[in-house]
Amino acid sequence: MTTIKRTYCRICEAHCGLTVEVDEKTERVGAVRPDRDNPVSKGYCCVKGLGSGAMHDDEERLNYPMKRVGSTYERITWKQAIEEIGAKVQELRREFGPRSVGLYTGNPTYFSFQNILMSSGFIEALHSPNLFASHSVDNNNKLHVSTVMYGRSMVHPVPDLDHIKFFMCMGSNPVVSQMSIVQLPNALQRLQSIEARGGRVVIVDPRRTETAQKVGEHVSIQPRTDAYLLMAMLHVIAHEDGIDLGPAKAVAHGVDEFVAMAAAWTPERVAPVTGIDASIIRELARAYRNADGAALYMSTGVNMGPFGSIAYWLVQGLNLITGNIDRRGGLLVPRGPFDTLKLAGWLGLGGLNEHRTLRGDWHQVAGCFPISALPDEIDNDDPQRIRALFVSAGNPVHSMPNGAALVRAFEKLSLLVSIDIYRNETSAYADYLLPATDMLERSDYPASHAMLQVTSHAQYTPP
Ligand code: SF4
Repeated sequence: MTTIKRTYCRICEAHCGLTVEVDEKTERVGAVRPDRDNPVSKGYCCVKGLGSGAMHDDEERLNYPMKRVGSTYERITWKQAIEEIGAKVQELRREFGPRSVGLYTGNPTYFSFQNILMSSGFIEALHSPNLFASHSVDNNNKLHVSTVMYGRSMVHPVPDLDHIKFFMCMGSNPVVSQMSIVQLPNALQRLQSIEARGGRVVIVDPRRTETAQKVGEHVSIQPRTDAYLLMAMLHVIAHEDGIDLGPAKAVAHGVDEFVAMAAAWTPERVAPVTGIDASIIRELARAYRNADGAALYMSTGVNMGPFGSIAYWLVQGLNLITGNIDRRGGLLVPRGPFDTLKLAGWLGLGGLNEHRTLRGDWHQVAGCFPISALPDEIDNDDPQRIRALFVSAGNPVHSMPNGAALVRAFEKLSLLVSIDIYRNETSAYADYLLPATDMLERSDYPASHAMLQVTSHAQYTPP
């Protein structure tokens, strides 16, 4: 007999609702469909969510613990895997101390409530600071700016797209990839609805993206110059036109210093750098400032450029001095269905700490060292260097900058354990392969995205 189960996709922040046909006897998955009754995603989902059933039953999946024997892998029991790995970790910690163990967490970690808790709990229980994360590749600018400005890396005001009048989107292509660090499904429809209500959408991007082809006005900008555009907008708003900074000063430190930074950055000075005419910069700045509810938003294209942190700091500061943070039609600061910040405080997540890498003196962002520091933390002559590495839900050899350096460093490891659904370029070097659950197999709750909801709701899958 077939039953229909309700669940939601955990591949990206959109968390689209899905219905899944499950054969009660064999537990095999049949058709996966968008959940038309989901009050937030309303029947929207993309091909990745629809493919989750195929992944669940894929013969290529890892289904058993495996141990490297020579140049191949042999199936072993969970008991053997846990005992052997545990004994090796114990031995290394005894001889070289807690820093000898490291953990890399890939992107899917942050879409699994249990993995977030277990990963941080695992590394903390071992008293090692060596937690590395994929978000250091494309989001650390946002996480660090939020830590410094708001006190926790998970605080990111999200645009109230259902009521906004002016929305400027920089370095993001929601038609292809939804929106990063914003939880809303069907971003294109939400952007188009802004225009349908008489609002304005501006897509700032070096190329006319798939999004710019479908919604709003496209403003072409030279790559890596978004911070200059933002600085000139601040100049127009605060220095040319003037703005009452009182409300911003009531809630923030350093507002005068922030505004003073833009004194010399006139649109005329910035125009040759950005490739945007000074008159267009002025018009954008004034339209943004004068709209009854507006937001600046930036994502991966700006994050990964040379001024990602400065740009995000400018976005936050501009949204603040124009009175758009924490207001309907501007940017919302959702707390989620429960007090995420309190939980983060209890767990010690998302703040600044004293941990530093052995090499390079890198600090942590959102509780994790940057992945680019990992090869040097393994391959050095310090007795405390990493000798056992766990890789959970990730493939850093493939996805980090200079993955070849990590492959070379792997030769210095005494233990490499990969926890994943599939084999990949990183697990090819592992001593043990441990199979992970896919999203149709586990109970879940999108804890790490609860503060990013454009529409407040609680969504979960039962055990
Ligand atoms: S948009 Fe994101 S959450 Fe929705 S189905 Fe696609 S991958 Fe999954």
